[in-house]
Amino acid sequence: MKVVKPIIQCEVFDGVKIMKRLERACRTCYRSEGKVTATSYKKLLTNCIKSGHESILEHEKLTIRMRCDIGLYKDVTRHRAGTSFSIESTRYCNYSKDKFTNNIHFIEPVYSDDKRKYEIWKNTMQSIEEGYMKLASLDGVTADELRMLLPHSTAAEVTMTCNIRQWKHILTLRCSSHAHASVQQMFIPFLLLLKREMPEIFETVPYNENFPVEKYAKIEMLSEVE
Ligand SMILES: Cc1cc2nc3c(=O)[nH]c(=O)nc-3n(C[C@H](O)[C@H](O)[C@H](O)COP(=O)(O)OP(=O)(O)OC[C@H]3O[C@@H](n4cnc5c(N)ncnc54)[C@H](O)[C@@H]3O)c2cc1C
Repeated sequence: MKVVKPIIQCEVFDGVKIMKRLERACRTCYRSEGKVTATSYKKLLTNCIKSGHESILEHEKLTIRMRCDIGLYKDVTRHRAGTSFSIESTRYCNYSKDKFTNNIHFIEPVYSDDKRKYEIWKNTMQSIEEGYMKLASLDGVTADELRMLLPHSTAAEVTMTCNIRQWKHILTLRCSSHAHASVQQMFIPFLLLLKREMPEIFETVPYNENFPVEKYAKIEMLSEVE
């Protein structure tokens, strides 16, 4: 059994370029292509968002990759519009194999500092892993069968792509104190990155400012493809 922390990786992007491409798409509506200046996207996007003219944000997208728990992706895959997922398949991945270092990886729960809760959680995960490995050692057992033992805390890799409008919507819901703690832990640091890189679009998106900063998932940039 390995206990790992959540990670969020974001594809390399240039926020200003994204916003300028959104401006170009948006100016089709008013045939005001001639009004583009180095900074004209700022006012245009701010005004569009204020007036609810948000479909223009659908012309650009961003991809992230997460190491998260199954519970997180169970919540987040409820989003249907403008959203695409590729998720590590528990139907094909057999964690008793060398490829997975013969371990189930579990995401450390947000309450890991509370020793009483953490001990119960850890003992439970250990016993689940024991059962999983015992079942895996039987002849002919498939990953399909093994997955019935996997709990919400199981670590999984998820690639998620959304258009910018949908990111704004998802982050509004998933960075609020009403979202599950492991979801806030993952998405608040991502929202803060987007607030820095594209303030005209994301600065008004609220988030739970009381969520402990030391619990934020580590955020990294994905390396560029060759
Ligand atoms: C705090 C929290 C608690 C939740 N608890 C539960 C729960 O207990 N049980 C449960 O089942 N779900 C729960 N959900 C999931 C929630 O109900 C939504 O299914 C999920 O957040 C997806 O959001 P969305 O509906 O905005 O869909 P998205 O796919 O993100 O859609 C974006 C927007 O497009 C529009 N849209 C999309 N599809 C349709 C449609 N078919 N008809 C009309 N308009 C549409 C809506 O305006 C929608 O907001 C919870 C979500 C949150 C954030």
